Amino acid sequence: MKLISNISALKNKIREIKRQGKSIGFVPTMGALHEGHISLMRQARKDNDVVIVSIFVNPMQFGPKEDYKKYPRTIQADMKLMAPAGVDIVFTPQAKDIFPDGFRAYVDMSGLTNVMCGKSRPGHFRGVLTVVNKLFNLVEPNIAYFGQKDYQQALLIKQMVRDLDMNLKIKVMPIIREKDGLAMSSRNAYLSPDERRQATCLSRALTKAKMMVIGSEYSSKRIITEMKKVITREKPVRIDYIVIVNTDTLEEISVIKQKVLIALAVFVGKTRLIDNLVV
Ligand code: AMP
Repeated sequence: MKLISNISALKNKIREIKRQGKSIGFVPTMGALHEGHISLMRQARKDNDVVIVSIFVNPMQFGPKEDYKKYPRTIQADMKLMAPAGVDIVFTPQAKDIFPDGFRAYVDMSGLTNVMCGKSRPGHFRGVLTVVNKLFNLVEPNIAYFGQKDYQQALLIKQMVRDLDMNLKIKVMPIIREKDGLAMSSRNAYLSPDERRQATCLSRALTKAKMMVIGSEYSSKRIITEMKKVITREKPVRIDYIVIVNTDTLEEISVIKQKVLIALAVFVGKTRLIDNLVV
């Protein structure tokens, strides 16, 4: 496993890989890795000749009051987790190299960015799309891997690739969970033991919703009401949003007649957690 921090060193390496006609699988991350990230790497290993992972805590996708400074940075532990997953190259650029003084270009999107996480985190997806675009240009992957955990992010990236005729495929992989249902997230590390217990309310609310749909309840309003009950039973939690939306357009759906995305964001203490389910 080779660690590369320098952009021109990465470009040289990519040129060499391309010359050899090898395919590249790419997993962009912000580090503080867990099994969710590793599942993407394993899939990339299966599909490609070379697996490249980036670890970059992207300042552009954090709001001014968000956790950019305290976001966990655990490169030593990350390296240990990645080695057995068959990662070939770990790219760890510096923020000043990715966004040097005078950087002005952005990638943004209309419509899909002003709902759900985009509504609560203005500018977040502009930061995500810009950095992902830049990383794609640097790494030149054949396939890039994203988690369904960040459903809206994966949808926007697929749309960007389509709209801008970018020359790669996007694969979206299932959500990896802890034994008690909590979706794995780097931010789970912020939770106190009590909060960690309360945090299962997200997946419990989704399970409740799923059971209601299976039991032929198709009213989004009634489902969301029951989900809220599951969540507000836990004291120091605050709901950011709960939505039932079209899986492609993210438009809210009042009566469930086809496949829908049920998604939520909840503050457990100061930690904002997200989760979702397609039913
Ligand atoms: P992050 O480091 O949080 O930016 O995540 C990097 C990638 O890992 C994104 O594509 C996420 O959607 C994905 N990911 C994060 N958590 C999980 C999880 N629990 N299961 C599957 N993929 C995940």
